[in-house]
Amino acid sequence: LFRRHMNTEPMAALDRIRNSGLLKTQGLVGGKWIDSYDGKKIEVQNPATGDVIASVPCMGSKETTDAISSAYSTYSSWSKLTAAERSKALRNWYDLIIKHKDELALLITLEQGKPIKEALGEVNYGASFIEFFSEEAKRIYGDIIPAPLSDRRLLVLKQPVGVVGAITPWNFPLAMITRKVGPALACGCTVVVKPSEYTPLTALAAADLALQAGIPPGALNIVMGNAPEIGDALLKSTQVRKITFTGSTAVGKKLMEGSASTVKKVSLELGGNAPCIVFDDADIDVAVKGSLAAKFRNSGQTCVCANRILVQEGIYEEFAKAFVKAVQGVQVGNGLVEGTSQGPLINEAAVQKVEKFVNDATSKGANVILGGRRHSLGKTFYEPTVVSNVNRDMLLFKDEVFGPVAPLVPFKTEEDAISMANDTNAGLAAYVFTKSIPRSWRVSEALEYGLVGVNEGIISTEVAPFGGVKQSGLGREGSKYGMDEYLEVKYVCMGNLKET
Ligand code: NAD
Repeated sequence: LFRRHMNTEPMAALDRIRNSGLLKTQGLVGGKWIDSYDGKKIEVQNPATGDVIASVPCMGSKETTDAISSAYSTYSSWSKLTAAERSKALRNWYDLIIKHKDELALLITLEQGKPIKEALGEVNYGASFIEFFSEEAKRIYGDIIPAPLSDRRLLVLKQPVGVVGAITPWNFPLAMITRKVGPALACGCTVVVKPSEYTPLTALAAADLALQAGIPPGALNIVMGNAPEIGDALLKSTQVRKITFTGSTAVGKKLMEGSASTVKKVSLELGGNAPCIVFDDADIDVAVKGSLAAKFRNSGQTCVCANRILVQEGIYEEFAKAFVKAVQGVQVGNGLVEGTSQGPLINEAAVQKVEKFVNDATSKGANVILGGRRHSLGKTFYEPTVVSNVNRDMLLFKDEVFGPVAPLVPFKTEEDAISMANDTNAGLAAYVFTKSIPRSWRVSEALEYGLVGVNEGIISTEVAPFGGVKQSGLGREGSKYGMDEYLEVKYVCMGNLKET
């Protein structure tokens, strides 16, 4: 499918999106496309070329307050629709996203940089949440609790939490939105989304398709621009009952603190520092393939990316050799060009962070065995990189590099591996490669992480719960657990039921 997009020039790609009507460059409030009230704009750039793709409004607290009001007034009607009616609107949205998957994928590649094949993967993945939650809308069951007194009946109702503020990052411009908006709308909530300023165009195109699908005006609003101002307006409003955020741990902590004054429900999907443990008894091909996929997709800019590859001593040299060979096959380039498997990083700051981490490791005794510098294409392209003999003192071990750098860390015993893996405040994803079933159980249970892949490097799906422990977050997205984040539990006691 992706072949027909290969070698598409950025201008031709943009024309195609424009012709489909999906190049939206205004915010969406109450079903109306609007500019910022003071006329200020921000530019959206293609990270592969540095070219400006479009300008969007730079909004702040006033526009956000209006978006909240519109979500609040729509809430009373949207939440009262039958589950079947909400389900139908979500299903229509899913169908439209799939119908326009090519344009959405091109848009993702243009504003975010990932290869078109990965962008198409994101569209399918992002759409799957809308389809899944359109079905879950019909399965919001309550309970009847056996009453301790015979003339009473005790019921538990599940009701929508209310207006939701959703703040999302740039690394998955579509999926990070649908993972939140899908369950929120399914439960009867209405939403104000603030996408990343780097990637607002995909969010706006998806919102346009939602309107076309019959999601009522005001149920889904999009504002973007001054992030702290928009965040503040969402936090301070008593009409917003829930904040759901995906992004950095630092911003997540601020939002959690800011939610305290109005006691909002909060869910957070924050940074990771995923260990990928390769044991002596692993199938080398499976381990190399899995680690490569877990590390290098989206140029290493994924919260579940293998951030530290821990390799047992007996297999270290063999694994390193096979892994380097596999990484040499990664093709760096513009995501629209045939054969590209690694696009640019999102911006200059991201490249400088990667450079700092690599310099820190080499200054402390690690060896760059592949790559290790900015790519000859310049801009924000960075070479696929492997660094060996990384240890606990290095930034590459301690923090999320969020770039195409694979640190190899040798270890001796299973206990060492678990201790190193858990030696971090993050706890999102972990990976284990071993042929031993007892070991895979033992290690999966010992890892302080919200998701574990055993002999697999890409495990996220709409049907399973996704989320972190420790400082990687609160709450889960996807699956039936993802619905709970947007529901309140109400206890109703029916008393004096005896006939008189
Ligand atoms: P970021 O925290 O800088 O930005 C995320 C969003 O928050 C953006 O929309 C940004 O504009 C907004 N924001 C920034 N400051 C704000 C403020 N003061 N108030 C309100 N909103 C504010 O993160 P990023 O650089 O866009 O994303 C990368 C990070 O996201 C990485 O750490 C990555 O691990 C994490 N991430 C986590 C998951 C997950 O599911 N756990 C998924 C993807 C990304």
